[in-house]
Amino acid sequence: MHDRLAHTAEHAFIGSLQKLLGQTLRVRKVEHKGAGNTAFIVIPQLDLDTVLEAEYEVNSLIAEGRQVVARTYASLEEAKKQLPSLRANEERIAGEVRVVEIENHDVAACAMDHAGSLQECDFFLVTRVSKSGREYEVDFAVGRQAKEIAVALSARLLKVCGELGANINTLENTARKLRSENESNARKLRALGREKLSGIQPVTNGSITLLKGIFENLADDQLQEFAGEKIADANMVVLIANVGGEMASVVFARNEKMEIDCNRLFSQFAGADGRGGGKPHFVTGVINKEAVSEVLGRIAEEILR
Ligand SMILES: [Zn+2]
Repeated sequence: MHDRLAHTAEHAFIGSLQKLLGQTLRVRKVEHKGAGNTAFIVIPQLDLDTVLEAEYEVNSLIAEGRQVVARTYASLEEAKKQLPSLRANEERIAGEVRVVEIENHDVAACAMDHAGSLQECDFFLVTRVSKSGREYEVDFAVGRQAKEIAVALSARLLKVCGELGANINTLENTARKLRSENESNARKLRALGREKLSGIQPVTNGSITLLKGIFENLADDQLQEFAGEKIADANMVVLIANVGGEMASVVFARNEKMEIDCNRLFSQFAGADGRGGGKPHFVTGVINKEAVSEVLGRIAEEILR
């Protein structure tokens, strides 16, 4: 019986979406499972705000107790002639077709069972919206299940407010602010990292130039980016480490025309204190924080020998 109610609410929901979007929608399929229901709607773009507005309207229609009535037409063509906005869930309907109407709201050709009034659905809740290829999946629940999910979601929301120290009325603003602060901090960290990395003093033995340094709390991808840029120079070797937690990230790279086997040297000197690998000219790995200074020193000594 639960499916019948979820299915009827789905008619009302798609009807609301159609009104908001001003177009007849194609619903590829609707799944009704124990854990909830999913409508697969073929549409290039579907905003969350539109979905939420439709959800709101469906609950109003439920409260009004809109009637659900079924009529039979001789054929799908005949039905479409009478009802131009008719939505057909099944494209290949042959012969007689049953049209289900939610009073002054929605008409759809459908052979399944429906509630007699939307009131039976009691409560309609959208629980997830996600895009998958050319269609959107909208998960929803009705009745008691919807209420239980609503209570659980509200509990989770209050806990999120607690974690963020946010007021429930300004939660979205707080989240936006935190994200923008985080992006700004990441930009500052990168600028600082660039400054630190560009301060490395090169060491040379006449034929090889080495850029070696150990840093703390930089962004790991920035080390790789820096090494990638620097090894474009002839005879250049980059050997840098970034200490974050217990392990330091290490990048060991050289100009592609050189002979040094970075892979071999890294495993030889890092030994049991590290792990890593890559190409002979570009190795990334991690080395125990306590050992990293000595390992890098020994690799440098070997290279410049
Ligand atoms: Zn139906």
